[in-house]
Amino acid sequence: MKKIYLDYAATTPVDKDVLKEMLPYFSEKFGNAMSIHSFGQEALQAVDSAREKIANFFGASPAEIIFTSGATESNNIAIKGVLKSYYSQFPTNYELSTHVRITKNKKPHIITTAFEHHCILDSCKAVEREGLAEVSYIKPGKDGVIKISDIKKAIKSNTVLISIMYVNNEIGTVAPIEKIGKLIKKTNALKKEKDFKIIFHTDATQAVNYFDCTVEKLGVDLLSMSAHKIYGPKGVGMLYVKKGTAIKKIQDGGDQEYKMRAGTHNVPGIVGFGKAIEKIQDTKTKKQNNSVLKLRDHLIEKVLREIPDATLNGSRVKRSPNNANFSFKDVEGEGLLLSLDMEGVACSTGSACSSGALSPSHVLLSIGLKAEQAHGSLRLTIGKYTTKQEINIAIKKLKVIIERLRKISGSVLEEYYDKKYL
Ligand code: PMP
Repeated sequence: MKKIYLDYAATTPVDKDVLKEMLPYFSEKFGNAMSIHSFGQEALQAVDSAREKIANFFGASPAEIIFTSGATESNNIAIKGVLKSYYSQFPTNYELSTHVRITKNKKPHIITTAFEHHCILDSCKAVEREGLAEVSYIKPGKDGVIKISDIKKAIKSNTVLISIMYVNNEIGTVAPIEKIGKLIKKTNALKKEKDFKIIFHTDATQAVNYFDCTVEKLGVDLLSMSAHKIYGPKGVGMLYVKKGTAIKKIQDGGDQEYKMRAGTHNVPGIVGFGKAIEKIQDTKTKKQNNSVLKLRDHLIEKVLREIPDATLNGSRVKRSPNNANFSFKDVEGEGLLLSLDMEGVACSTGSACSSGALSPSHVLLSIGLKAEQAHGSLRLTIGKYTTKQEINIAIKKLKVIIERLRKISGSVLEEYYDKKYL
């Protein structure tokens, strides 16, 4: 049985051209990019060349690209590094405590959304717990889209950071990043010169494949992503840091990455990352993206037409070309996922990072789903290697499994009522 992979939002296979470019950097070109000798210089050149390609993609300058181990680390730096910079204004603990006392209830304020990836939410919870910041978690609308007016309302005089994800990893909905960027620019323009300006961060991990990520156009100061979502390797990513942004490193050690991220470079990973970004820009990829969009529409329409009591979670239009997320009435998502896996179809329920935990998805709850609807959800995400035939086979299997699971849950309920457990 040929397996069908419909979980491209969890990770993507490494493109063969990317792998080819990476291979020499595991063996003959193994130098440490910080070494002075020729081995090191060879590695450094490869890192710099990747940095240039990535900077070019985002319309940034190479010195604004900080390589990390992935979006989780980039997001941690964004939240904690901005706060660290904020607190570094106070040279002594005495001055800091005086400041906190005088400006009581005016800890630095962060705005984010209730449906971010856990690495943002948990970073925010951590700084709240440590008493370093207060955080507002904006809820998306029922369509899974964040409203500018809600962000505008949440901004306060002590807001230092706004972090909004570009594309949601579970339901694929798209945030109006460019418009939020304009709002923040306008708000900052009204501030006094000595005031701490609001820094704008976006987690663009799920957006880079399909959406314009030119940083100037988006108006962002910080942007995170991971290479393995764009047919690159795992364990490497980056944080774009606009020149002059008030942010400090959070990890101590070597002077790598303009002293912003200590640790030996993942040279093969960075090389693969550069090649993966380069491939996004070629016309073949643009064509592939168009066919991904058509396949997604086919998938959504076929499921809604052929499977009774199925609903699409998140906006039909403001969503990523590769994402479909459904809830199926009276079906448990975990059971569905496991049955599909046994039939050779890989997909996900909730986000891959939180499956294993049976609590309902925080994303689906944030758009107003009840716990039982959230439990019956399935995320199907496609990519450049997905075919129409694979989608048709997967839906055929999905239909049979849902019918079977519904029968089982129906008969369990009948037995329950028969025996008058109520
Ligand atoms: N943010 C988003 C939106 C993601 O989808 C992911 C990956 N699931 C991450 C952050 C974390 O990326 P990584 O695990 O590569 O660090």
